Amino acid sequence: MTAQHEASIAASIAAVRASIESACAAVGRDPRSVQLVAVSKLQPASSIRAAYAAGHRDFGENYVQELTTKHAELAGLEGLRWHVTGHLQRNKARDVVALAALVHTVDSERIAVALDRACVEIERASLPVLVQVNVGGEAQKSGCDPAALPSLLDALAKLPRVRVAGLMTVPPHTEDAAESKRYFDALVQLRDANGGATSLPELSMGMTHDLSYAVAAGATIVRVGTAIFGERPPRSSSN
Ligand SMILES: *Cc1c(COP(=O)(O)O)cnc(C)c1O
Repeated sequence: MTAQHEASIAASIAAVRASIESACAAVGRDPRSVQLVAVSKLQPASSIRAAYAAGHRDFGENYVQELTTKHAELAGLEGLRWHVTGHLQRNKARDVVALAALVHTVDSERIAVALDRACVEIERASLPVLVQVNVGGEAQKSGCDPAALPSLLDALAKLPRVRVAGLMTVPPHTEDAAESKRYFDALVQLRDANGGATSLPELSMGMTHDLSYAVAAGATIVRVGTAIFGERPPRSSSN
C-alpha cells in the first residue's frame, strides 16, 4: 500500500460521504442515518487496507471464496465488518455465517434455513440479514418476487437464529440514474406494507451511479464500489 494509494482512497471515501451528506440535506435527513458499505469485490486487499487506514470499517464482498481469502489476509484489522452482497449458495453457508456482520442477499427460505443451520453448527447466536427483493422483476436477477415477500418474511420469522433487519435491492441497470428512483420507492412501499420501519429498519439500496436517489428515497445503507476503489478488474475463474 503506497501513501498515494491510501490518500486517493481516503479522498474518494470523503467525496462519497459528501454526496451522501448533500443528498440527506436536500430531503432533511440526518447523514448519520446512512451507512456506507465499501464494496471491495475483485479489488486487492491493499485497497481495503487503504480504506481501513482512512477509518473505514464496512466492506462488501460478493464471492465467498474471495471473502475467505481476504479475511485471512486482513485478519489483523480490528473491527473490520464484512457485508455479503453477492448471490448466496447453500454449500457456502458456513463460511458466510463465520465471517459476515450482515448478509444483504437472502432471497429464499432454502438459503435462510441453510444459514440458520450453519449458525447452530458454529454456535453463532444470531445472524442479521436483509431480504433481497427483485423490484424490477428481471428474469436473470437474484431476489425474491415482490409478491412473495410477505410469505418469505413469515417463514424467516420462524427461524430462531436468522434475524431479518430489512430489505435490499439492485434495480435494473439504466443509463439515467433517475430511472432507479421508482425502484427505490417500490422497495420503501414494500417495507411499509410489511410492518414498516419498526420491523424492517434497514433499506440497502443505491450504488455508485444512483446513490443520491437512493438516499433521497430513504436508504439506510448504500453499497458503493467504483466511486471508492475505481474500476473493477474483470472477474477471473479463481475468484
Ligand atoms: C458490485 C456491487 C455494488 C457496487 O457497485 P458500484 O457500481 O461499483 O458502486 C453494490 N451492490 C452490489 C450488490 C454489487 O454487486
